[in-house]
Amino acid sequence: MTIDGRTRTCGLIGNPVEHTLSPVIHNTLAERLGHNMVYVPFLVEEGRVSDAVKGAYALNLQGMNVTIPYKSEVIDSLKDIDTLAENIGAVNTLVRTEGGYKGYNTDMEGLYRAMDSEGIRIEGEDIILLGAGGAARAVAYLCASKGAGKVYLLNRTLQKARTVAEEVNRTTGAEVVIPMTLDEYTRLPERQFLAIQGTSVGLYPHVEDVVIEDRAFYQRIHTGFDLIYSPWETKFMRLVRENGGAAFNGLKMLLYQGIIAYELWNGVKVSEEDAMAVYEKMKAHFV
Ligand code: NAP
Repeated sequence: MTIDGRTRTCGLIGNPVEHTLSPVIHNTLAERLGHNMVYVPFLVEEGRVSDAVKGAYALNLQGMNVTIPYKSEVIDSLKDIDTLAENIGAVNTLVRTEGGYKGYNTDMEGLYRAMDSEGIRIEGEDIILLGAGGAARAVAYLCASKGAGKVYLLNRTLQKARTVAEEVNRTTGAEVVIPMTLDEYTRLPERQFLAIQGTSVGLYPHVEDVVIEDRAFYQRIHTGFDLIYSPWETKFMRLVRENGGAAFNGLKMLLYQGIIAYELWNGVKVSEEDAMAVYEKMKAHFV
């Protein structure tokens, strides 16, 4: 890659940012597609998000990704926000516009594309969603807006599950999200489910942790999708597989949220061939 006077810069703001794979996604795409663009991580200290966004704009940065813990806080620093991101209440992509950045949420569409590429359907499915944090909230919104049957939202803190269910049901106008505690899995209707693991339990280095241990729970899952991708196979995924289900990790979700951001910044459509070339590079970090 040659950096010259015309090189455009994009980046990631978050804390921490040291282990991010986003530079692999964007710099590989820029190289493959011949775009004169570089992507770098920026560590932003607590309380400095607004300064960071103003500084990025002043420095002519084309776009930014936003990661933990700033996906909600960054909203106050935007000139405009996409309706989907506003409904979810979280922004992970900023796109430069006249006078400031416009915020988008590409996590949700990224998950949708990732599931689609694995042949997983949401439409008409009854879904178990574990977790009610920022990511799970976007997943609940995705499921409700893409025509899921019922979404059983199981969370350690019932009040958070209730809040997410109420907001998603209200915004989508569909009464599909049902809040429950984690122990209430024994009360789920007798059928097979698509289950999405959206808590942070099981994330490296706590690889032997899982929110529900009971094997009887996993016998009810035909497909399990864990948003976590480190470790490559979480305990949740292992239990799904050991009980006869198919299981997938969250690396393709990360891939596609990045690809959608790249498409927004560069006004292009990334081909599946290029997407898979990036995926292989990302995968090399794990297996
Ligand atoms: P978050 O807002 O902090 O939410 C954490 C969730 O985990 C909450 O539901 C919390 O329950 C639950 N939880 C935490 N510790 C628990 C424990 N000991 N027992 C039971 N439940 C527990 O985090 P987030 O931003 O939603 O992220 C969740 C996961 O998704 C992370 O692992 C993240 O890496 C992953 N993620 C992946 C992608 C991707 O591109 N693949 C994108 C976004 C996020 P309470 O409500 O009871 O606290």
